[in-house]
Amino acid sequence: MNLKDYIASIPDYPAEGVIFRDISPLMGDGAAYREATNRIVTYAREKEVEMVVGPEARGFIIGCPVAYELGIGFAPARKKGKLPRETIEVEYALEYGSAVLTIHKDAIKPGQKVLICDDLLATGGTIAATIKLVEQLGGVVVGCAFLVELDDLKGREKIKDYDILTLMNF
Ligand code: IMP
Repeated sequence: MNLKDYIASIPDYPAEGVIFRDISPLMGDGAAYREATNRIVTYAREKEVEMVVGPEARGFIIGCPVAYELGIGFAPARKKGKLPRETIEVEYALEYGSAVLTIHKDAIKPGQKVLICDDLLATGGTIAATIKLVEQLGGVVVGCAFLVELDDLKGREKIKDYDILTLMNF
């Protein structure tokens, strides 16, 4: 199965000159969604992952079925103000301005092997912030898994000390 057949490319969205890669056709096809999930699960088993973390919101779509299949937990990393209990936070730069990502303080146990999942690696800002959160809690990031990597944006360089799995490159 060629998973790229299930990624829609939308020119000039959300801004002129940008090609948005939309994963919703992949999620909308049961066989493609399962194939993508299974590939990440195989990777996670090799890494002996004990916990999955995903940043809001599409990180949940990728990370939750992986955690379910492995029979391990999933912890959401969310924008500030969304998590109800005690959190830690990291501020990170966006194209315009900045954002704050948070995680519950008890989401990860020290020493736990963590896989971080998101739909897409662009500049790497989101994943770098998520890595910081996990490490502040004493977690060990053993891998980062994405459906899509946008090569031109060189996000990989921002997280070069970490192992990365991407299922599709554009
Ligand atoms: P980064 O922080 O620049 O790596 O951007 C990655 C984040 O932005 C991910 O959480 C993606 O969901 C989102 N994102 C950036 N570009 C795209 C795109 O073309 N399609 C879907 N999501 C995108």
